[in-house]
Amino acid sequence: MNVAYFTMELAAAKIGERFETYSGGLGVLAGDYFKQATEENRPITFLSILWKLGYARQKVEKDRIVDVPASNDKWQNFVTDTGLTTSVVVENHSITLKIWKFNDGNLYFLDADLPENGHYRYLTYNLYGGNEAFYGQEEKERILQEIILGIGGARALEVLNQPIDIYHFNDGHAIFAVHKLIKDCMDYEHVNFENALNKVKEKIRFTTHTNVTSGNEQHSIHDLLYLGAGYGLSYEQLSFLGGDSYGMTVAALRSAKKVNAVAKVHAEAANKLWEGVNGAPPIFPITNGVHRETWQHHDMGVAFETRNPQIVYEKHQGHKEELLTLIQNKNKIRLRENSLLIGFARRATSYKRWNLFAKDMKALQYAIEVYNVQFVFSGKCHPKDFNGRAYIQEIYDLSTKYPNNIVFLEGYDINLAKVLESGSDIWLNTPNGLEASGTSGMKAALNGAINFSTLDGWWKEAYAEGVNGFRIDMNTTCFTEEERNLRDCQSFYFFLFNEVLPKYQNRDICDEWENMMYASMQTATEGFTTKRMMAEYFEKLYS
Ligand SMILES: *Cc1c(COP(=O)(O)O)cnc(C)c1O
Repeated sequence: MNVAYFTMELAAAKIGERFETYSGGLGVLAGDYFKQATEENRPITFLSILWKLGYARQKVEKDRIVDVPASNDKWQNFVTDTGLTTSVVVENHSITLKIWKFNDGNLYFLDADLPENGHYRYLTYNLYGGNEAFYGQEEKERILQEIILGIGGARALEVLNQPIDIYHFNDGHAIFAVHKLIKDCMDYEHVNFENALNKVKEKIRFTTHTNVTSGNEQHSIHDLLYLGAGYGLSYEQLSFLGGDSYGMTVAALRSAKKVNAVAKVHAEAANKLWEGVNGAPPIFPITNGVHRETWQHHDMGVAFETRNPQIVYEKHQGHKEELLTLIQNKNKIRLRENSLLIGFARRATSYKRWNLFAKDMKALQYAIEVYNVQFVFSGKCHPKDFNGRAYIQEIYDLSTKYPNNIVFLEGYDINLAKVLESGSDIWLNTPNGLEASGTSGMKAALNGAINFSTLDGWWKEAYAEGVNGFRIDMNTTCFTEEERNLRDCQSFYFFLFNEVLPKYQNRDICDEWENMMYASMQTATEGFTTKRMMAEYFEKLYS
């Protein structure tokens, strides 16, 4: 059985390398899955796009968060030219797509960056759009990128001569591939649309990620037809798949035989969110995992094998030191190694509530003045995500107010992520119930950091009270969002002052803290790696 895995972003390179074909969690997950598949020699062909500029970045300039032009200038080190091309038709123009192969593994990247493509060459420059060639036409840019991934990807598989039994879509970006599969089935097997859909459906699998409505793209069918996403299907047929307007997730739900979400609580929320979509299969969970060899420091893995929590603690202190040195080099601030260090790094977007810890300033001040609690933040946001930008600015402003206790590190990527996750004592996550999975917590746990999070995403199923980490309660009965955020913040400080800090302060007197670090590692190692995840995909999704 051969699987084709379509993904808009994929972090393929090893830690220490810079190959910027991803923006955040979705791409890092795809990359971890790819690394696991390569290691296990699984029959999966991965398809993505060779983003010449990668994803937007931010930096701090004169106290303001400003965009930095994206760049992915080392891409040539990672791929080989297959000498093959394919094409797609966009806006009635045929454009050529080069097919590159990643040097290590069964992964292909499409690339429109050829002079003959005119301004369409810029379509594969900026992940999720924003190239100046399409200024003011961002929705069109996005749809054309999705035509390249979906339809271009399906055609590339033919050129590569790879027969495919299962098409797996990592989120809905590539779903236009289904239009091609249906149309081909209608043309070559002479069946009507409905029968073709049913035949194609047997081969389609879909993983849904975002439960945030704005993350679920919709487009007008007129636009799709005009731009070439329909691949010969009619207005009615497209609307049958995706509704009118056409929802990418809705179309994916209606054309897939099986659909999974990425954590148990995420599946519950997704089933609720999409219950109105007729013809969609029930959504079941396959909880995400992380690639252990990528994310766990070797000495932490060795320490874990000794079954000695004291050794785990000592090795972890070494990685905490690395993080403190990095902060010192980057920000010229020396944090203290024997005070609690709370790490927080992820994409800045509304539901992740970056500023939750600062909703009760008195409590924050007390934590800083009495316990010298230290926070280190990092992350970036899409340039058009104004909530995300405001979060980063707010954290930066707090860091100027409390320079020895709150730090913001610019330049978040997988390399910085690993230093942060393995050097923090506590890994904080404060989503409001809309989390998909939250894989950074798994990476932290593999390195002995202790999770402290709302019971959302993976943590809801991983958390064992008093054993492997801490929780923050979510108050779901409040009238306003502001009130709710304040209550959740108070829950954070309640557990910080009553559980986290006492255990941390007593770590020389008893083993509770060290035991919790060990249990944290055990939870991640046994339940939240791509090894487990891969086995489940083959058993439950591809079957
Ligand atoms: C792991 C990772 C993420 C995902 O983190 P979440 O906890 O899911 O928000 C995002 N970005 C990078 C660079 C990562 O390594």
